[in-house]
Amino acid sequence: MINREQAQALDQVDPLREFADRFVVTDPNLIYLDGNSLGRQPRTAAGLVTAAMDRWADELVGAWRSRWIDLPRQVGAALAPLIGADPADVMITDQTTVNLYKLAAAAMTARPERHDIITHAGNFPSDLYVLNSLAVTSGGALRVVEHHSIDGVSVDAIGLAVDDQVALVSLSHVDFRSGSIADLPRITDMAHEAGALVLWDLSHSVGVIPTDLRAAGVDLAVGCTYKYLNGGPGAPAFLYVSPDLQAEIVQPIQGWFGHEDMFAFDPAYRPAADIRRFGVGTPPILSLIAAGAGIDVTVEAGVAAIREKSMALTSLQMDLFDDQLATRGFELATPRDPVKRGGHVSLSHPDAYRISRAMIEHGVIPDFRAPNVIRLGLSPLYTSFIHVWAATRRLAALMDEGAHTRVEGDRTGVS
Ligand SMILES: *Cc1c(COP(=O)(O)O)cnc(C)c1O
Repeated sequence: MINREQAQALDQVDPLREFADRFVVTDPNLIYLDGNSLGRQPRTAAGLVTAAMDRWADELVGAWRSRWIDLPRQVGAALAPLIGADPADVMITDQTTVNLYKLAAAAMTARPERHDIITHAGNFPSDLYVLNSLAVTSGGALRVVEHHSIDGVSVDAIGLAVDDQVALVSLSHVDFRSGSIADLPRITDMAHEAGALVLWDLSHSVGVIPTDLRAAGVDLAVGCTYKYLNGGPGAPAFLYVSPDLQAEIVQPIQGWFGHEDMFAFDPAYRPAADIRRFGVGTPPILSLIAAGAGIDVTVEAGVAAIREKSMALTSLQMDLFDDQLATRGFELATPRDPVKRGGHVSLSHPDAYRISRAMIEHGVIPDFRAPNVIRLGLSPLYTSFIHVWAATRRLAALMDEGAHTRVEGDRTGVS
């Protein structure tokens, strides 16, 4: 059995251990394993937001001109190295769902003779809803490749599904339930061979798994900044458009922030020549500044080092699963091969909902995903090896004691 000293030894040699101090922790006994839903608050965020509040008080509308108007591109440029993009090809604006809609619709317009979209049954529901509505309004269908195992999207299944009626292949890089990683470079190549465009949702990989969008020839990508990037609740999302497509494709929500010369107040829409054409309306400056704080600390740590630690954390969690959880009725719902899994480890159990509630009562915050999955989100900038060890101890102990059997009620609200 893995003991406390072994976990402590891993923390002692962890090159990222100092980064935990960059985040606000109000309860040192709480083990937070839900950073893949809402990351912790970077220490610098409150000061930066307060400074922006002061600027608002002081400079009033003048602050738009002096500081804020170009912030979606500036914060996007800061994020670019995390996804292997050039700074000019990323912007932070709107929500992930809205950006997905904008880019998917732009892709459909760029392939007018094709009407279908391919996705995967395990994709995030919001993505499925958006893609379905778009396929239907363009006179085609959403082809949903079935879900067969925790290994997630099969390259071969996508290869079989894609043909000359498919305008777009849109998938999540990391499966939000199982944490499995899709083979982004191969699927991108396969879609291109069939003449389709690709749109990747990086919500569950950005900040924890490096991607090289440029090298893989990805057309379009979107993703959240409030998960592993610790950008804050409701932080605006990013979008990426490959430089070859920027001047060619147009998005459906044609607002003044996407205009070539917004302050000309031209009654006719003329899209900006660059990434700005994917802007819509006035960006949420305070949230964008908080998102920048999370992005900066991630870039400083380096996503390659974060990925190294992430694989070590999830490996420890797997060993602890074999040691203590397999015999207590849990099944592993995440791939065992470290190169095939992202930053979280999922456990399935028929009583998962009540167990997740009991974990919270015992000072461990995981999250629950219906119908039977508990996700343990290990966020390398602030999750330590001892956290993983202690959380497993608390979970094993509460199962032995039967604490979950005393939890009342059903799933309600946000988890
Ligand atoms: C979290 C997540 C979203 C959330 O989208 P919002 O528009 O920010 O609510 C979308 N897609 C995926 C794959 C996610 O993991």
